[in-house]
Amino acid sequence: MAPKLLPIQVRGRGTAEIESLHSYIHRSAYHHNVFVGVLLKYMDREIKRDSDFPGHIGCLPSYIHHQDILRKNSLSDYLIDSFGYLTCQSLRGTNASFLNAQLNMSRGELSSGFRWCSECMAEMMELGEEPYFKLIWQFKAIQGCPIHRTSLVRACINCGCTQNSYQRVSHLGKCQQCSSSLRRKPKKNPIRELTDNATDLIQLVYDWQMFSDQHISPYGISISLNKLLDSYRLQNKEEDFYRLLSRGRLLSAANKKTKLSLSDARKLSFQLGISLFDLISGNAANTSHRFDLNDSHDFPSSFSHASVRDVKDHKSVLKNLKELSESDVAPMSLKGTAKKLGVSVGYLEYRFPAQVRLIVNRYQSYLDQDHLRKVYLAQTRALQYFLDVSENRAAKSRKHAYKQIREETGLPKWILKKAIQTAYQAMT
Ligand SMILES: [Zn+2]
Ligand SMILES: [Zn+2]
Repeated sequence: MAPKLLPIQVRGRGTAEIESLHSYIHRSAYHHNVFVGVLLKYMDREIKRDSDFPGHIGCLPSYIHHQDILRKNSLSDYLIDSFGYLTCQSLRGTNASFLNAQLNMSRGELSSGFRWCSECMAEMMELGEEPYFKLIWQFKAIQGCPIHRTSLVRACINCGCTQNSYQRVSHLGKCQQCSSSLRRKPKKNPIRELTDNATDLIQLVYDWQMFSDQHISPYGISISLNKLLDSYRLQNKEEDFYRLLSRGRLLSAANKKTKLSLSDARKLSFQLGISLFDLISGNAANTSHRFDLNDSHDFPSSFSHASVRDVKDHKSVLKNLKELSESDVAPMSLKGTAKKLGVSVGYLEYRFPAQVRLIVNRYQSYLDQDHLRKVYLAQTRALQYFLDVSENRAAKSRKHAYKQIREETGLPKWILKKAIQTAYQAMT
């Protein structure tokens, strides 16, 4: 099926920086040059006309509140399925679909409007990438940008607009009301030591999109809890396990009577030393969890599992990266680029995921082109060799052709042999 909407790709796919569903819809409206409401109505009409649509048809409200589609419900499922269907891609992972599914609704966990990092916005614009809002920025537990350690912004610095309006007159990096750039930061936006920046949640956002949420049991938590309970019972440490949360809450969730909140799930995963994804997906018993549970009921004030990262001068790396991509030198591999900039491949992949994809694609197309150029050169020289009548034709042989062209061009043996054989067959 040809896409019925512009096939705009979800930004940040394959990284923890994945775009939020709300951002995607607003960005798509901007590209279609219509208000968000018009785009939604068009989508709804197209889906209802299409008998091949594999998802469930939902009902569009007159206005969609930001936080409503950041969790799982029939509306967010409808939007993910329909936009995915009309643009021929998967939009799964663009919302926190574990909320109101494996976990309870967890009210208060999500921001009610867009939040963004002004430094990230500035960086996207400097790199010539299209600005977008990341899903991780929408979790209230994430206090600041994990990359820049600056506070997240909720409204335009110039006019106070929250960017929630259905009107989309500029790209997402500009205020829709006053056109001021969202890269502008508040005067008081100091770099903070984010000791508790919910790195477990950031990891969950990454893990969740890497596994299709459709294949995860809605009772994943119950499966995990039952298996964990069995293993603690075997060790005679059942009571220790209950103390992690409360006997009532744990047994109720294990028996599928109630669901845990995101906050409770984080407390459990932290204290057991397992990932949130393993706990939610029912995989907890297959991981090496902690048996020496301490007596503390208190959830530690800091969730931070992250080691203190090497503080790099991101701006100067970014500048060098830009200079390198704009220079005339032949494209380099990702490894070569990292070496040239004095950073690791992992650093580039984490900090500049979109730019990394460009580097990899550019290098691959360069290799493809270079290969074609070599094949063409070998073929031309081989034909010239056999066609040239000025030399003694009797002395011509494939072996001699190889020796001569190899000396002239330095091309690899496997390319030359094939070209010479083709030319030889054509001439005899
Ligand atoms: Zn940032
Ligand atoms: Zn504004």
